[in-house]
Amino acid sequence: MTSLVIAEHDNASIRPATLNTVTAASQCGGDVHVLVAGKGAQAAAEAASKIAGVSKVIHVEGEHFAHGLAENMAAQVVGMAEAYSHILFPATASGKNIAPRVAALLDVGQISDITKVDAADTFERPIYAGNAIAIVQSLDATKVITVRTTGFDAAASTGGSASVETLDGVTDSGKSSFLGAEIAKSDRPELTAAKIIVSGGRALGSNEKFHEVLEPLADKLGAALGASRAAVDAGYAPNDWQVGQTGKIVAPQLYVAIGISGAIQHLAGMKDSKVIVAINKDAEAPIFGVADYGLEADLFNAVPELTAAL
Ligand SMILES: Cc1cc2nc3c(=O)[nH]c(=O)nc-3n(C[C@H](O)[C@H](O)[C@H](O)COP(=O)(O)OP(=O)(O)OC[C@H]3O[C@@H](n4cnc5c(N)ncnc54)[C@H](O)[C@@H]3O)c2cc1C
Repeated sequence: MTSLVIAEHDNASIRPATLNTVTAASQCGGDVHVLVAGKGAQAAAEAASKIAGVSKVIHVEGEHFAHGLAENMAAQVVGMAEAYSHILFPATASGKNIAPRVAALLDVGQISDITKVDAADTFERPIYAGNAIAIVQSLDATKVITVRTTGFDAAASTGGSASVETLDGVTDSGKSSFLGAEIAKSDRPELTAAKIIVSGGRALGSNEKFHEVLEPLADKLGAALGASRAAVDAGYAPNDWQVGQTGKIVAPQLYVAIGISGAIQHLAGMKDSKVIVAINKDAEAPIFGVADYGLEADLFNAVPELTAAL
């Protein structure tokens, strides 16, 4: 029994979601191999070989792998699939783009968004926005899995000494091509990898206030900024800051929810955070039900005071 983890990387380094996926793969039993398909991705392959618990890295080079196009990645994975009992992707935008194609091409069911490995064929996954846990058993010969990264600790990024094997990749499928990317630049930590998140809701009232009130606190804490969907829909914060059922799933050490009511769809994205702090002027707000520390106060007074006190 051997598992294959499809690495997420930028050709130079391995993205953190890969490390949690390696942990999930280790729990499936047997060896763990990692596929690094990219262009000029030697450094990423090298980094993958150092991940604790990985026994082999398969490095595939090609111009058509430079940007992780799902059509080419899926063809590459399917070409290697026979050797593997489990094929695991992080349940990120990229993983969720490739995994269903692989499952369909292999004619197996995809096991999505797992948070626990009960046995090599049995997995747990949240359903109904995290209100119930489904235990899913798969009888398929190859298990194609996406991993909710917050459900698994990150494997150590150093300490491993896997061999790196270079393989010829599949040819370009020609079905898609990379035109360009507009990537938001920020000095803040990436939301899903951040240890601390300061998140704002509709109560902030405007884009200007959202930034004016929350940024100094986030700066003091070295935190990423997040938002409720109401704040995103109102244009206070960009789309990729949304936390929740239809946004990002996060589980930082500290999540500070400011002017967020705690609707079930928001909780679905953050309730696994280690420590939750809520600031809300309504004592009945549901966010206080999950908060470890709650402050019933007007955020426009409390947040500047907190920032000044830090
Ligand atoms: C299918 C579906 C998917 C969804 N997905 C998501 C998702 O991914 N993420 C998400 O966040 N939502 C999601 N939602 C929306 C969700 O149901 C809520 O509408 C949303 O989370 C509310 O955002 P909010 O808490 O910022 O706003 P509100 O619910 O309006 O809450 C604002 C809070 O601020 C408090 N407040 C007001 N003024 C102050 C002040 N001056 N000081 C302190 N506190 C104050 C209020 O007491 C209130 O609790 C989804 C909904 C649906 C139907």
